[in-house]
Amino acid sequence: MSDSHDNHSVHRIVLPSGRKIEVVRFHDDLTEERTGPLHVCPSCDSHLVQPVDWAEASEEQWDLLLRCPNCDWSDEGIYDQRSVEELEEHLDEGLAELLGDLQRLTQANMADEIDRFVAALENDLILPEDF
Ligand SMILES: [Zn+2]
Repeated sequence: MSDSHDNHSVHRIVLPSGRKIEVVRFHDDLTEERTGPLHVCPSCDSHLVQPVDWAEASEEQWDLLLRCPNCDWSDEGIYDQRSVEELEEHLDEGLAELLGDLQRLTQANMADEIDRFVAALENDLILPEDF
């Protein structure tokens, strides 16, 4: 099913899960024709593309300035809500991974501190004359 409007067309797609989504294609010069998801750099294929700046362009449309930290590629374009939500999901995953790493690091540091504390107890505080 497809509706055509002056500057965009709406394609309704039913996913295998049964969820219905609307894909809006804008025939606006500002709209980027991107083949891959927004978090993937079109220049170097890095998956770390981040939004540097963003503004709501219109209802369900976002004006994003994207930047790749790997190769310094950056680009501004108007993207639909769905693409932006996908990008956010990847950002959330990245953040969750980062927090997971930080937590593991903190635990490793604490374990290391406990080891040193135990070593200090054994070497300095628990002396033979205590017995
Ligand atoms: Zn890149």
